[in-house]
Amino acid sequence: MSATAIRTMITITALALCAMSAPAGSPAPAADRLLDLTYPYDEGTIYWPTAETFARTPVAWQVNERGWWYASNNYAASEHGGTHVDAPIHFAKGGRTIDQVPLAEWIGPAVRIDVTAACAADRDYRLTVEDIRRWEKRHGRIPRGAWVIMYTGIGTRHYPDPVKVLGTDRRGPDALPLLSFPGFGLAAVQFLLQERTVTGIGLDTPSIDYGRSVDFEVHQAVCGADKLAIENLANLDRLPAKGAVLYAAPMPIRNGTGAPARVFAILP
Ligand SMILES: [Zn+2]
Repeated sequence: MSATAIRTMITITALALCAMSAPAGSPAPAADRLLDLTYPYDEGTIYWPTAETFARTPVAWQVNERGWWYASNNYAASEHGGTHVDAPIHFAKGGRTIDQVPLAEWIGPAVRIDVTAACAADRDYRLTVEDIRRWEKRHGRIPRGAWVIMYTGIGTRHYPDPVKVLGTDRRGPDALPLLSFPGFGLAAVQFLLQERTVTGIGLDTPSIDYGRSVDFEVHQAVCGADKLAIENLANLDRLPAKGAVLYAAPMPIRNGTGAPARVFAILP
């Protein structure tokens, strides 16, 4: 065997060994880089006190008369409950419905602003422009197309306890004056809408407006600017301050004003 042939054989063997030790070649990110930001849907899912809650009704759940297993449920719920998104139509007449927002628009760099200390001291806390500026001083300017996520700690620590998350476990219109949880401040949202280019905002409470709001100015501003919102996000304690990419995949309900969504992040 010539020297060239031996060299060729060594090269082929080395390539074969490389191929054996290489990753499987899957385009999916490794499991430890995937962060689920979604709560499951069940009878405990948090809804607005006046909204229809989640109902799952088994249709079949057994081995049938022909001897094979068959399982199927019906389900029903308000669009706005659990981990879900808001479309612009929710608070803006003529705004886009869920099915009109392109898939690409639901994806953006995640910016997490940690205000857990302020929210622990005051559960009616509202995010300020100063909170945003403090984040930017440390991490740089909010990137274009960002999802700006307010980490209140309220939902992350207490979901789905209605008293601790909503401020009350009462249902119906009488519960509305008892709502108490943090949200975005209007000035902070106007800053994001006017001075930065964001995809939308999200947080770990049931509403981007704080619980005591009666006119939902933040919803009006965000929807009026044709931007998006995510509410009741899970696992925000594990989302980094920057560097993750957030994906929201709502059910594209035709003429939907919002929808349950699987929301997740790919970590840096
Ligand atoms: Zn909503």
